[in-house]
Amino acid sequence: MSEPHSPAARALRPGTVAVTAGRPPHEADNPLNAPITMASTYVAGGATEYGRYGNPTWAAFEEALGALEGGRALAFSSGLAAVSTLLDLVGSGQKVVAPRHAYLGSIHQMADLEARGRITAELVDVTDTESVVKACADAALVWIESPTNPALEVADIPAIVAAAHEAGAYVVVDNTFATPLLQQPLSLDADVVLHSATKFISGHSDVLLGAVVTQDDELYDVLKKRRDTIGATPGTLEAWLALRGLRTLHVRLERAQANAQELVRRLQEHGAVGEVRYPGFGAIISIVLAGGAIAADLLTHKTTLWVHATSLGSVESTFERRRRWKSEPATIPDGLVRMSVGIEDVDDLWDDLAAALDDLTT
Ligand SMILES: *Cc1c(COP(=O)(O)O)cnc(C)c1O
Repeated sequence: MSEPHSPAARALRPGTVAVTAGRPPHEADNPLNAPITMASTYVAGGATEYGRYGNPTWAAFEEALGALEGGRALAFSSGLAAVSTLLDLVGSGQKVVAPRHAYLGSIHQMADLEARGRITAELVDVTDTESVVKACADAALVWIESPTNPALEVADIPAIVAAAHEAGAYVVVDNTFATPLLQQPLSLDADVVLHSATKFISGHSDVLLGAVVTQDDELYDVLKKRRDTIGATPGTLEAWLALRGLRTLHVRLERAQANAQELVRRLQEHGAVGEVRYPGFGAIISIVLAGGAIAADLLTHKTTLWVHATSLGSVESTFERRRRWKSEPATIPDGLVRMSVGIEDVDDLWDDLAAALDDLTT
């Protein structure tokens, strides 16, 4: 198995890294793309041996994502498989600090572990840095998500990382919303970056995949060992599709973000919209409808272009009223609609949205 090709990743800009990292070496008759290697076992005597321990297609994806985040990556079968692997590292009875508006699946895992007496979890308002810092004092793991989902709150990552490290706690940053192009938590001293590669990295609503990235070799070995043991391994085709998606991440994100910024301007002026939440970057907007839950439900059923669907980060625009999920925290407004802005023409996106919003005010 030859090492994936990574041309001087240190010197290149992110868009070039996204296109070039993790390719086979530039040698005669090598394919330009990492092949899809379907293998459950390998000839004995090498470094891999068995399909649960490694795969060249995963390695190509990991090489490319690692180059973008500035660390060593490990792919998992889903974002939540990566979450549970990380939470598994917390010792019995130890404390995890996490945002109260973190991804619901992550919160559910923490609550489940707490209910079974495995860990304690303290949920915090990530925008209240002082109280987060206080909560870090006796923590073993500090979980940051920024921006949060779907409240779009932004955390002071350097201040929280400093407090966590002071307490001897590891820091994980779920970087799914920002992507490595808009935020690189390892450069802010976080220990591990987590991705649901299901979202922006894959970008086409056709893959479930997760990943972690770290610069700490010891931690990398521990996480790799956990993946080997638990078996939360990615599918080969999924890793290949995610790598294919990653190749265009910078182009997709640039267009989706520009669309989002234009839509924010227009939404702020519409009478049916009570509040627009947008952290200033990225392609996710949350709006709170002036007419509450009923208006929000009407909106999500009246559009033709915007698809009523959960999940986010794809080429097509999707949206949903988050409180339609019974377990969404009550601190999220009933009439909040999370919008994942795609790469369509922004005027078509606006015409579709404006027609539905106008209907709500007449
Ligand atoms: C979707 C998501 C996850 C979970 O990832 P899956 O790939 O769905 O398992 C974790 N964190 C955030 C922020 C997400 O949006």
